[in-house]
Amino acid sequence: MNLTTVHTVADLRARVSRWRAEGLKVALVPTMGALHEGHISLTKLARTQADRVIVSVFVNPTQFGPTEDFAAYPRTLPADQKILDAAGVELCFAPSVEEMYPSGFATRLHIDNLTDMLCGAARPGHFDGMAQIVTKLLLQAMPDYALFGEKDYQQLMVIKRFVTDLNIPVSIIGGPIHREADGLAMSSRNRYLSPEERETATTLSRVLSSITDRASRGDAIEPLLETGRQQIASAGFSPIDYLEIRDAENLELMHGVIDRPARVFVAARLGKARLIDNMAIIPANSDA
Ligand code: AMP
Repeated sequence: MNLTTVHTVADLRARVSRWRAEGLKVALVPTMGALHEGHISLTKLARTQADRVIVSVFVNPTQFGPTEDFAAYPRTLPADQKILDAAGVELCFAPSVEEMYPSGFATRLHIDNLTDMLCGAARPGHFDGMAQIVTKLLLQAMPDYALFGEKDYQQLMVIKRFVTDLNIPVSIIGGPIHREADGLAMSSRNRYLSPEERETATTLSRVLSSITDRASRGDAIEPLLETGRQQIASAGFSPIDYLEIRDAENLELMHGVIDRPARVFVAARLGKARLIDNMAIIPANSDA
């Protein structure tokens, strides 16, 4: 196995320092493990920029709400290590909760505005916990690049915001959503779906595609969203946390006819899984 796994910040830093001394560029891909092709698409994108790729695997307790799936979240480190080794990743950083949050830990982070809506509204405190752990990982590894998926588009926007605000010296790179052949966005939480739910789950990407298609051709968005909500609900999703179209840059809610780059976002629960997805809407009559 060419992959090395370290469990402590000290070992992570020692390895990265050696690479830096050799003048190598380093990329970090933070994950919660239960790896799939979507994660690996980010390691491949990382490889186009950097000489050495680190993947962190850490199920971060502070970004889960009290009624969410922290305890049940799949933890599959041996399988993840095989996948990372096959993908040519050099280093896996898999710290314990105690390593990341030693006793006495008391620092929180909050990002205004961008976190009030979408998953921020549906999951209070989620983005504070995410920002806390991503900041720690960036300061621990001090990579040249850090890669995040557009699958979690709001998360990517929040990360870009605090990295800029806090002058963290890293380039943030977003990667496109990797999908199953039938359109379902890959996710570690897809493992929660029964075979029947797995079929139903394709409803989300089908509804988003149809909305994207029609909104980009100039249809007013309110009726499209109303129809979309009905389709998602009648497929068996409940509750639907949101189905909204927002500005692709500042995430402001959009109305009427789309006249600038936008994004349609959905989050809805199917059985035990809360699924999210999003797609870009580029107005057909713009040069955007
Ligand atoms: P997670 O392990 O779910 O926290 O995801 C770790 C990183 O992988 C995040 O930056 C996600 O946005 C990204 N990611 C998850 N699923 C996908 C996917 N289907 N396509 C691209 N990136 C993804």
